Amino acid sequence: MDLSKYIRQNILSLAPYSCARDEFKGNARVFVDANENPFQNGYNRYPDPLQLALKEKIAKLKGVRATQIMLGNGSDEPIDLVYRIFCEPGKDNAVAIAPSYGMYGVCADINDVEYKKVVLEEGFKLNADKVLAAVDANTHVIWLCSPNNPSGNLLNRGEMEKIIKGFDGIVVIDEAYADFSAEESWLASLDKYENLIVLQTFSKAWGLAGVRCGMAFASEEIIGYFNKVKYPYNINLLTQEFVFKKLDEVAEKEKQVKIILEQRSRLAAELAKKSRVKKIYPSDANFLLVEVDDANAMYKELAAKEIVTRNRTNVTLCQNCLRITVGTPEENDILLSEIQ
Ligand SMILES: *Cc1c(COP(=O)(O)O)cnc(C)c1O
Repeated sequence: MDLSKYIRQNILSLAPYSCARDEFKGNARVFVDANENPFQNGYNRYPDPLQLALKEKIAKLKGVRATQIMLGNGSDEPIDLVYRIFCEPGKDNAVAIAPSYGMYGVCADINDVEYKKVVLEEGFKLNADKVLAAVDANTHVIWLCSPNNPSGNLLNRGEMEKIIKGFDGIVVIDEAYADFSAEESWLASLDKYENLIVLQTFSKAWGLAGVRCGMAFASEEIIGYFNKVKYPYNINLLTQEFVFKKLDEVAEKEKQVKIILEQRSRLAAELAKKSRVKKIYPSDANFLLVEVDDANAMYKELAAKEIVTRNRTNVTLCQNCLRITVGTPEENDILLSEIQ
């Protein structure tokens, strides 16, 4: 693959901002290069722009090289950067499945990039040929999300592979919910497919949505472009230190995931008994897509009882569906007792 064919012209030739700390490597006794306040308080210095200590730890956990990682302000940052790196505004386009995560389309709009939706088949199944048929000479990116939001299901691996192999441009696989599924991550295929970008996040299973830290994994060449385009100090030191420490708590994360998965089964079984619930879609994530008799009415009734669900009734293939996140056992008790 000739990656440069898919890079925006101005990004190919961009000279990135050079940080003070980029120009000097080694130990120093005196730092008077960055106009910082010299009095130590733990945070008076600019943070590592490439977050190497944190990436080394993530790399060990995920079985990749630190140089294959880009960290962002949530996964939303790499999603936006994909357009800024790979798509010429007003010219190039992206192809995505529908329904899927809303930010792919919003960031396309912000970047003035055409966003072409390919509707999933019955049961939210992926049809690779349909996706590939939507590709034209200006398609630079294909978005896949597995397990998919808001449908909750894993996409078929063979169909996904067909797309990665059959498309010469960039394929992004969003694995925000991978921790809730037994399926193998696409991270293991990074070295095999040089057009692949995998997104993961600390916002879901890791319980750190408030911290805003997302991960993009790709070839060293692609990560080089991410590093060139991102804000120099995009991950602040508080976040770098906090996530570094949280990475020691894998066992706690797994314990919580186990409870969430048990609660998901319980919620699905109990919701299925409610007369107003018409269908519960199978989920490989930490939420259920639930078809009810009247989603707008039920959304309002639950909201009046101070229970907030996500009304997806206006989303492709999701008529009369609410998306319900699996809560704590106590939260699920309340939800189940209030749905009549
Ligand atoms: C929640 C979610 C994310 C995570 O976004 P962050 O910016 O990392 O919080 C990414 N992709 C999908 C599909 C999601 O549902």
